[in-house]
Amino acid sequence: NRAYRLRRRPVGQLTDGDLELVEEQVPELADGQALVRTKLLSLDPTSRVWMSDMRSYEPPVPIGAVMRGFGVGEVVASRREDMPVGATVSGFTGWQELVLADDSQLEAPLTVLPTPLPAPESAFLGVLGHTGISAYLGIDLAELKEGETIVISAACGAVGSIAGQIARQKGAGRVIGIAGSPSKCQHAVKVLGYDACIDHHAADWRAQLDAATPDGIDVDFENVGGPVMDHILMRLNIGARVSLCGMISEYNSYNKGGEHTGSLTNIVQLIMQRATIKGFLVLDWAHRFEEAITYLAGLLGEGKLHYDETIVGGGIEAAPHALHQLFSGANLGKLLVRVAD
Ligand code: NDP
Repeated sequence: NRAYRLRRRPVGQLTDGDLELVEEQVPELADGQALVRTKLLSLDPTSRVWMSDMRSYEPPVPIGAVMRGFGVGEVVASRREDMPVGATVSGFTGWQELVLADDSQLEAPLTVLPTPLPAPESAFLGVLGHTGISAYLGIDLAELKEGETIVISAACGAVGSIAGQIARQKGAGRVIGIAGSPSKCQHAVKVLGYDACIDHHAADWRAQLDAATPDGIDVDFENVGGPVMDHILMRLNIGARVSLCGMISEYNSYNKGGEHTGSLTNIVQLIMQRATIKGFLVLDWAHRFEEAITYLAGLLGEGKLHYDETIVGGGIEAAPHALHQLFSGANLGKLLVRVAD
């Protein structure tokens, strides 16, 4: 039973020694406890935030603690009636091979998935999990109207790829993606149904984005922040809405406590264009998970929703290195680590 424990807070990118892979005792089960083997681990941009001590929505992972993370696993031993051996569960597994699931756990308990599973188990960490639900919520909170122009950054990522397709379903006039390579942009247009996709590494990406949004931008589904968002702000229309889902471009560079220098310079455009910006956190919206999952599962069932996954093999030890993919842009769709078969 191996687990990653946080040894120190990373400075910049996660480096060797920030996390340590530790051999742990297999816990003895008491009544009301089950033992879960992690099968798939979700790697999220917010994993990097949790490693830091920035001001955040969750307390930082304490130094010495097992790294926090979502996963899907299988119950391998049980003294809990609601969690029989063989059941598939999802929730906070942490970066570890075996998880003790305690029925007295109040915060983020593991939950049993339906049998038979209506979709592959990986989908519950992506399109039918927190990233798909974030896409649904972000579009809904932006009150996207038919005919409007929406721009989505990290357009081929776990959240962005689903957001783009929902925007299309909701009747957006133009759905424009921003992604990190020509091949991702091709995928965005050919497979995900974006009208155009701009490679943010191209020297003239700003001019390309201007040309792709001749009528300005009504909705920004923002996943990355930084220069990309700053330029989008310059193209907002009057009454535009920014759904602020994430700012991954900054996650490796917060100072202690969360201060950050040298960020957005065009934020004044919110005033000039009487625009609104709304930050949201999927974890606050549990009362709408069922609605979101029903919608997403409906589109999947009708063959109207494509989802990509990048599943890294090599077991739990692969997790820290795989996390870099989110920052280099190597992942297509939801990034997962296969911890066990
Ligand atoms: P993705 O699958 O989208 O992976 C991250 C992608 O971000 C990379 O593939 C890369 O794509 C892009 N990226 C990384 N660094 C930069 C940069 N400096 N500039 C531009 N693009 C960059 O991750 P997720 O879908 O899991 O998450 C997307 C965003 O949504 C994150 O900011 C995350 O924090 C946020 N999020 C928020 C939630 C909430 O409740 N508010 C819930 C879940 C996620 P490319 O190759 O295109 O550059």
